[in-house]
Amino acid sequence: MTVSSGKHSIPGKVLALTGGVGGAKMARGLIDCLAPEQLLIVANTGDDFEHLGLTISPDLDSVMYALADRNDTERGWGLAGETWQAMEALGELGGPDWFRLGDRDLATHLRRSALLAEGQSLTSVTSTLCQSLGIAHRLVPMTDDRVRTMVTTERGELAFQEYFVREQCAPKVKGFRFSGIEQASPSAEMMAWLESPELAAIVICPSNPFVSVDPILQLPGVRRAVAAAKAPVIAVSPIVGGMAVKGPAAKMMEELAMPSTATAVAQWYDTLLSGFVIDLVDRSLAPSMAVETRVVSTMMTSLTSKRQLARDVLDFALDLN
Ligand code: GDP
Repeated sequence: MTVSSGKHSIPGKVLALTGGVGGAKMARGLIDCLAPEQLLIVANTGDDFEHLGLTISPDLDSVMYALADRNDTERGWGLAGETWQAMEALGELGGPDWFRLGDRDLATHLRRSALLAEGQSLTSVTSTLCQSLGIAHRLVPMTDDRVRTMVTTERGELAFQEYFVREQCAPKVKGFRFSGIEQASPSAEMMAWLESPELAAIVICPSNPFVSVDPILQLPGVRRAVAAAKAPVIAVSPIVGGMAVKGPAAKMMEELAMPSTATAVAQWYDTLLSGFVIDLVDRSLAPSMAVETRVVSTMMTSLTSKRQLARDVLDFALDLN
């Protein structure tokens, strides 16, 4: 295992595809290994929704807060040092308080919504917010168009946040639909990076394969462009020891009649992958993997472990180049 200090020696550019929690941790590691001009982080916006008259982009915000070191690592979402007075007041007024928005977090949604209302694109708004938070690396939404993840469940179709937050992922999942995806244009920057001769790696972060990564890959032309890119495509398994580290990924796999294993995640991504990264606890799965597999510690519990996983993935990409 190569352990380098400071910036990584990978030549060229890295494209990272991410959802919220797992992806944000990986992205935080990657920014310590790569110069700003070497990295483009593309976040899922299928989880976005309109609430209380505001446009909320949970995955973009999770990544943005993590990159700025402002995320709450204990709660696992939102901002550190958050207060909840607005939510309490909203509840008293009989307003909907099932989706918890902290006071400081609300400022992000107010600012985003105001800039969008002025006619700015979500890409431009995200860039403005990132600059305000002192983030040097580039974070973009997968599209500026409206795509909304709908979860088909035994209780009918639910909008993603209704399923995820309001229903606490309880209804049994039967499938997913990404409303608006056929008409959506993928991020122009992402498409340019995918075609760039300087691209050295495409990293699929340890994010939920169905509701975080798939919306990105299913945007028109994206899966084909990822498959056609010269750079190796490396995914990190979000399933560790048969379980999701956080969230409903393993539960979804079981309900979709798939084994909740790292192997099944690799099979889901199928021929797209050049390499797959699994955790040490899953080392026994490596010999039977159909794709080149690297076994490392993937549990990102500290800044050191986030950096180390990022380095391991970049080293793997170098070896596959
Ligand atoms: P979401 O959009 O907020 O659900 O966030 P993501 O899709 O990016 O992340 C959710 C996935 O991240 C879950 O399936 C978790 O198992 C995975 N995850 C979270 N933390 C870690 C970690 O430290 N290591 C690994 N390997 N996976 C993680």
